[in-house]
Amino acid sequence: MTTSPSDLTPRRRPTRTISLGKVAMGGAHPVRVQSMTNTDTRDAEATLAQVARLAEAGCEFVRLAVPDETSAAVLPQIQAAAPVPLIADIHFDHRLALRALEAGLQGLRINPGNIGAKANVDRVVDAAKAHGACIRIGVNGGSLEKELLRQYGGATPEAMVASALGHAALLEQRGFDNFKISLKSSSVPRTVAAYRLLAEKLDCPLHIGITEAGTLLRGAVKSGVGLGILLWEGLGDTLRVSLTADPVLEVRAAWEILRSLGLRQRGPEIISCPTCGRTEIDLQDLAEEVERRLDGVTEVFTVAVMGCVVNGPGEAREADIGLAGGRDCGLIFRRGEILRKVRGRDDLLPEFLRELDAFLAERRATRTLNPEP
Ligand code: SF4
Repeated sequence: MTTSPSDLTPRRRPTRTISLGKVAMGGAHPVRVQSMTNTDTRDAEATLAQVARLAEAGCEFVRLAVPDETSAAVLPQIQAAAPVPLIADIHFDHRLALRALEAGLQGLRINPGNIGAKANVDRVVDAAKAHGACIRIGVNGGSLEKELLRQYGGATPEAMVASALGHAALLEQRGFDNFKISLKSSSVPRTVAAYRLLAEKLDCPLHIGITEAGTLLRGAVKSGVGLGILLWEGLGDTLRVSLTADPVLEVRAAWEILRSLGLRQRGPEIISCPTCGRTEIDLQDLAEEVERRLDGVTEVFTVAVMGCVVNGPGEAREADIGLAGGRDCGLIFRRGEILRKVRGRDDLLPEFLRELDAFLAERRATRTLNPEP
């Protein structure tokens, strides 16, 4: 399950395969990217618009909060137009879960131990089976059962795992195994310890995430560290990066985490130098402009934006295409080889974007001639 010192790609822990609509996860399937809308679900139009933006950014399924009857009532309308499978996030009320399944949603996030009488659990499990839907048991360190907090002396990893096993038993007793589990806490060490412990006990797929991770920079770093450790150890079949930000940024962060570990690739990787005393151009501006231009591109390649003409092309020799900017001129290069020199700082960006378009057209033409198997 763990990597040896010379391994460059994490080996995934074997888990059973489950499905969420047409999207399978666990087993040998790629680690799936998911996120959650932050619109008012009752506003079907705004919610659908956000689901569409998330899907375009590479989100493979989207969760929506379903806190009441009014939001449950618009689910059929949202489901009918959603481009990716949807998951209803439900707390305590099993009737809302039934409404979501009737609306055709393929996933529920609900903890069976929190929905009251045994008969309520029976109803939800029967309906999930009938609709072929998947359930996520979502244990959160901040809302553990009081008895477990007493028994374990707080929201320890052991208490989180005990909670998850209790919920899982309710599903397994009913012959339901199309489920996954998440064990989230805002502490990275506690989250990692909890997932490690759970992985020893069950083979169900794991949904991983660090909850309440924070605003864009802090949250992305914290999630990157926590999810990076788990993924490197082979743990995690689907992930959500939680940020106090536009959820599209959660999806971008998730892809960057997967890309940085060599687990999945999507879209260009943009590398840029950190700048130093040799930099004579506004590199931040340039890098942001290139990033904006590549927004929405799904081809996999590396672009470099470097701050000086002397060291830039060499430092970024692995990049498929790049630019290096100097005071009076700039260089456009491919794989460390200089393609051409551009005079005048103002011309560098437009000239580079032209080369980038040509490079992309070439890539696309090659792909058409040699389609992927
Ligand atoms: Fe400095 Fe040039 Fe390296 Fe950028 S590429 S860090 S400007 S030496």
